[in-house]
Amino acid sequence: MSVAVVAEKTKFADLTFEEKLDRLAEVAVKVGLGLRAGQELIMSAPMEALPLVRRITEHAYKAGALLVTTFYADDPSVLARYEYASDASFDYAPKWLQDGIAEGFRSGAARLAIAGSNPALLAKQDPAKVARANVAASKAGKPAMELITRHEINWTIVACATPEWAKLVYPGEPEEIAVAKLWEAIFVASRIAVDDPVAEWQEHGARLKSRVEMLNAKRFSALHFTGPGTDLTVGLADDHLWAGGGTTAGNGVYCQPNIPTEECFTTPHKDRVDGTVKASKPLSHQGTLIENIAVRFEGGKIVEATATAGEDVLNRLISTDDGARRLGEVALVPHSSPIAQSGVLFWSTLFDENAASHIALGQAYSTCLIGGEKMDAEQLAALGANASLIHVDWMIGSGEMDVDGVAADGSAEPLMRKGEWV
Ligand code: ZN
Ligand code: ZN
Repeated sequence: MSVAVVAEKTKFADLTFEEKLDRLAEVAVKVGLGLRAGQELIMSAPMEALPLVRRITEHAYKAGALLVTTFYADDPSVLARYEYASDASFDYAPKWLQDGIAEGFRSGAARLAIAGSNPALLAKQDPAKVARANVAASKAGKPAMELITRHEINWTIVACATPEWAKLVYPGEPEEIAVAKLWEAIFVASRIAVDDPVAEWQEHGARLKSRVEMLNAKRFSALHFTGPGTDLTVGLADDHLWAGGGTTAGNGVYCQPNIPTEECFTTPHKDRVDGTVKASKPLSHQGTLIENIAVRFEGGKIVEATATAGEDVLNRLISTDDGARRLGEVALVPHSSPIAQSGVLFWSTLFDENAASHIALGQAYSTCLIGGEKMDAEQLAALGANASLIHVDWMIGSGEMDVDGVAADGSAEPLMRKGEWV
């Protein structure tokens, strides 16, 4: 892999903003996607990400891309739908388009998503309409999304600072300052703000891999979380596999699906989660901040859920379908992660889930089970993997969280103390 972007001034602080943006684009293509010569690239991006899209497109063609196609999302156009569209609009999604994208993936395309849309865009819209539109979009997008979650293709997500997002993260700052601050936070969290980001990512990936190998060798049957307001046992699915950092996709390409990423994660058993858990950070879900979530699980299912703000959104979320009250992911992230240390609440799962150990309600990753990517829905369920239209991560880890690995015979072994790996 080539390394230096700018031959003479490699110190990150000396780079112009354009050069920093170019580094992010280079890392997205080379590290995130591992794009192969001759591969098509399908990208999705908010309108405001156009400068980053152009840089990524340049790097993709330099890497030999066959064709780069970008789908843009425009926030005001989304709001126009909520204001003027017929009621029937909210149960509709363009299946023909999603099927076409899935067909593109099947015939060899890679996928890159740029995160950056206003997280609070739909906060003032009718939650029932938002939920219906999400269900319709999830159903139509299922074939394409399955190719992504099963890692059949190489894919990645990177972030772009946009004005509306920046104003949420840095309220009270003038727009220009907020955007500049958010960009710097993105560069640092994405491990771009170093002299050689490609080498940094190779080292970071290797560290995550060694944790994953340790956890896979242990074959724990459960994890036990204890902290303020939390005493939670998360049973792990039979034949669960830990994952973290890079992965070799079904098409043989090695990629880093999330930039940034700090987590080691696996599949919990949908029927074996018991106890109480308190969120350690607010959960931003479609523009609503759900604060102080406290939940009680029994036999894998949420039987009690409260929040001091956004409780109705939380209740609607866990009522989406049968699997929405059960866990599809459990992840360990040390409190010393650069994102946790920044102390910034990003209002974005891509960042916030990498700030703390977390659990996710809803769909499990079949790749986190031995042989899972080749199993059908029934086989996955038999091993304890959850199925749902939703997958929502929420943060439970902190500098006060202890985690034990529990073996099949019930003996416990410390994994994390006060939020750090033992
Ligand atoms: Zn996660
Ligand atoms: Zn997740």
